[in-house]
Amino acid sequence: MKSKDELKVQSNYHAFHHEVLLPALNECLSCIENDQLMLHQAYAFNMLIAHTVDHIWQVAKVFRSQSITRKSIIDSLDTHYGLESARFPEGVFKLIDGVNNSIKHVELDSTRSNNQSLINCYGQFNFLMLKGRDGRVYFSSRHTDYFDYGRIVLRHAAELLNVRFDEIGDDILDLLDGQWTNGYEDEYTDDPIDMMIEYCNPICQDCGRGESCDCDNYSYVGQKGFFNPETNDHFNFDDVMSSISGAYKP
Ligand SMILES: [Zn+2]
Repeated sequence: MKSKDELKVQSNYHAFHHEVLLPALNECLSCIENDQLMLHQAYAFNMLIAHTVDHIWQVAKVFRSQSITRKSIIDSLDTHYGLESARFPEGVFKLIDGVNNSIKHVELDSTRSNNQSLINCYGQFNFLMLKGRDGRVYFSSRHTDYFDYGRIVLRHAAELLNVRFDEIGDDILDLLDGQWTNGYEDEYTDDPIDMMIEYCNPICQDCGRGESCDCDNYSYVGQKGFFNPETNDHFNFDDVMSSISGAYKP
C-alpha cells in the first residue's frame, strides 16, 4: 500500500508526463523528423526535458531516499542511456542540462563545480552555442564540436522518454535502474522481406537519416562523426534470403 506522499508524487508526475511532456515530445520528434525544428522550439523542448529530471528527482526522493541528489539522477540517465561516451564524455543529459542553464543564465557560471567539467569540455558555455539553420538546430562550440543537436541529442532523449505508462512510481525507478528500454531493442521486425528492406536501407542511429545522413560533417570532442547504422543482431543474410526464396543457395 502506497503512502500519501507516494500517491501524491505519483499523481503529480503522471500529470506532468502525460499532459505536458508527451505532447511536447511528439511535437519535438515531428519537427525533427520533418526538418522543421526552429531554434526557439529546440530551447523549449530542451527545457522540458531538463525539467523532467526535476520531476523524476521528486519521485526518486519519495520512493527511494530524500538524500538522492539531482546530479545523481542525471548521472544515472547518462550511465544507462547516454550516447557513446567518446563523443559525449560529459553525457547527453548533462549536456541538455547545461544548454538549459545557459539560456536561463546567459552563460554557465564557471565557479560552480557542476559546470566546470562542461566548460572544460566545450569552452565557455553560453546560449549562443545552439544555432538554427534550414529547419535544423546545431551545437557549435569554439572548441571542436559541431553537430546536429536536434537530431542527435534531443531526438535521443525524446525517444527515450516518449512512452505512456500507468505505474509511474515503479516505472520511473526502473528507468533510473537502467531497466527501461522503451522497446527500442525489441523493435526489429521478424518478417524476412521487411528485414531485407531494412538491411538494404540502413538508418543512421545517430541522426535517424538514411542516405541523407551527413554525420561525417560533424565533430565531437576528439572524434569525427560518421554514418552509424542500426544493426539487427538477429539478421543473418543467408537465413533471410532462404526464407524469402526456396531457390536461394547460400
Ligand atoms: Zn547520421
